[in-house]
Amino acid sequence: MSDKKIQMIPKIRSGIVIDHIPAGDGVHILEILERDPALKNVPITFGMNYQSNKLGAKDMLKIQKDDLCERTIQHISLVSPGVTIKRIRDFEVVEKVSVQPPHEMVNLLRCLNPGCITQNEPGLKTRFILTDPKKNLVTCVYCEREFSIHELSPIV
Ligand SMILES: [Zn+2]
Repeated sequence: MSDKKIQMIPKIRSGIVIDHIPAGDGVHILEILERDPALKNVPITFGMNYQSNKLGAKDMLKIQKDDLCERTIQHISLVSPGVTIKRIRDFEVVEKVSVQPPHEMVNLLRCLNPGCITQNEPGLKTRFILTDPKKNLVTCVYCEREFSIHELSPIV
C-alpha cells in the first residue's frame, strides 16, 4: 500500500514548499503569505487535511517563487513552530529546514500592555525574548510582561 503514494498536490518545478503544517494552521500561514508584498501575483497552492504519519493530518502550501523573505519566515515560525520549509529546484528538494521562533523578535509582534512604552512611541521597534520555547511564551524587553505568542498580534 505505502509504495503507491498518491500525489495530492501537483509537484512544482521550482519554488518553496511549506510542509508538516499541523492541520488548521495552514490558513494562518496563508494569511502571512497574503500580507507579503513580494508574493503578490505569485501562484500558491494550498492543501488541507492530508494524511501524515507524523501529525495525523497536515496542511501544505506550495509557492512558485524561489525565496521567502526572512521576516515572512519568522512570522511563520511564530504561528506554527516546527513546520518544514523545503526549497525545490527542478522537482528536487535541495534544502529542508524546520523553522523555530527566533530567540529575539524585533518588531514582529505588538505588545498588549497599554502602559508599555512601545504602545505610546510610534517609532519604537518592539522587542520580545522567547523565554519559554516549549510553552511559546515571550517577554517584552520594555515592560517585562510575559505573553503567549498566540495572544499577540503581528506587526506587518
Ligand atoms: Zn511591552
